Amino acid sequence: MKYSVHTDSAENRQKVHDIVENAKQLGDEAFTSLVNQGHEEAFKSIDCLSCGNCCSKHSPILLQSDLERIAKGTGLSITQLLTEKVEMDEDGDFIFNQQPCPFLGEDLYCSIYEFRPDACAEFPHSDRKSQSEISDLLEENAFVCPAISQIIKTLENIHPGI
Ligand code: SF4
Ligand code: SF4
Repeated sequence: MKYSVHTDSAENRQKVHDIVENAKQLGDEAFTSLVNQGHEEAFKSIDCLSCGNCCSKHSPILLQSDLERIAKGTGLSITQLLTEKVEMDEDGDFIFNQQPCPFLGEDLYCSIYEFRPDACAEFPHSDRKSQSEISDLLEENAFVCPAISQIIKTLENIHPGI
């Protein structure tokens, strides 16, 4: 992989959690601002088409509206999608049935980009408001997305109250 992410281990998960919880002490406005700025900065140098990690390593949760949009866009029926491309996970959510994603090309382009799932369009979520409320996503994605891994490294240097 061209870009690095945090190595997934119990120790690193605890470390990332502590970094995020520490930075959240700044308050949601300042914390969100730091994450949003980190997002802008990270994607100045990171090219998703040289990465593809999110599409390769895990599936988005697929909503009914996503399935309907993908079916309409691809010409597949909902039944075809459900039998050929989609499965239900242990939480009862629809996800793609393989990783890498069945719609990911070898060139790392998404072949259904115009009608991709909402969760794909929003990933890695670091440009959203109210980051304190979704900091579990920030933590999780440090092990998937190099942009988030970079943001976590920036947050590591935050020392609220000093
Ligand atoms: S639908 Fe497209 S953006 Fe979403 S995981 Fe698959 S290839 Fe990636
Ligand atoms: S969103 Fe993150 S993990 Fe996905 S392709 Fe872009 S840099 Fe890689």
